[in-house]
Amino acid sequence: MQVLDGKKIANDIKQEIADVVSQIKDSGGKIPHLAAILVGADGASETYVNAKVKACKKVGFKSTLINLKDNVSEHQLLKEIYKVNNTLDIDGLIVQLPLPNHIDEMKITEAILPSKDVDGFHPSNIGRMALNLPAYLPATPAGILELFKRYNIETSGKHCVVIGRSHIVGSPMSILMGRNTNPGNCTVTLTHSRTQNLKEITKTADILIVALGKAEFITSDMIKEGVCIIDVGITRVKSDKTKSGWKLLGDVAFESVKDKCSFITPVPGGVGPMTIAMLLKNTLKSVTKQGY
Ligand code: NAD
Repeated sequence: MQVLDGKKIANDIKQEIADVVSQIKDSGGKIPHLAAILVGADGASETYVNAKVKACKKVGFKSTLINLKDNVSEHQLLKEIYKVNNTLDIDGLIVQLPLPNHIDEMKITEAILPSKDVDGFHPSNIGRMALNLPAYLPATPAGILELFKRYNIETSGKHCVVIGRSHIVGSPMSILMGRNTNPGNCTVTLTHSRTQNLKEITKTADILIVALGKAEFITSDMIKEGVCIIDVGITRVKSDKTKSGWKLLGDVAFESVKDKCSFITPVPGGVGPMTIAMLLKNTLKSVTKQGY
């Protein structure tokens, strides 16, 4: 069994990006600039946005953080997005999700200029992705593809089972794994909360991508020998064994399955760090115009 070290690969990618930025600087080119909009003061969202801003600094990007109150109107938020859309110096824009209930998330996503949508959530980018055209890929699925690439994991002809059909992970992941590309070329089964006999399906998976948000849901009786497991889930649970009083668990019971797997991503340190690295990669692409 080999553990896929997302932390190390993410650091490699950040170093590669930093090298390109330093070349851009030397040649007087355009420094990538990412803008992030954060609505409200939700602790988790704040942590994610701050991590993204910090990562921008680390690789030499410019970043702008726009903080809006949680009672901001949808109209005002749209105005902020149009402002960024029209600011030439800003190459990429992300709006941290989730948004307060009075704001329509899809309306906001659709307001972002597709060419600045480095989260890859705009319907135009999702459509282009499905058609295998140049597009910004959603960061978490793109990070998983990158892990397959960098660890030379064969995907062609394999049966890939994806659990979860969210717009940001499960659905795009299932499309990407079925495309005629490498990584890709899998026979894909997309499963969700209405799927019957899930265990019968997961037991046939050569590659199992788990994104449902239920701690330690997948156990050794649900998988076959030699499966490659990608654990996307992150659940914070109380723990009296850590200083902070809590720990992070994946959707996979790591200890239970590890001896049966060929490859597995740990939580933390697997898919999580790859997500930010791929967001940075998308932002770099928005400057070099390889993305869209
Ligand atoms: P979500 O919460 O939007 O949706 C969960 C999905 O799981 C739904 O499609 C639902 O149909 C499915 N589901 C629920 N119960 C199920 C069951 N019993 N059997 C089969 N399917 C079931 O999902 P999300 O936003 O993709 O998040 C999933 C997990 O991944 C969460 O823990 C989240 O924190 C984590 N996540 C991690 C990263 C990362 O960077 N590592 C990024 C995004 C999300």
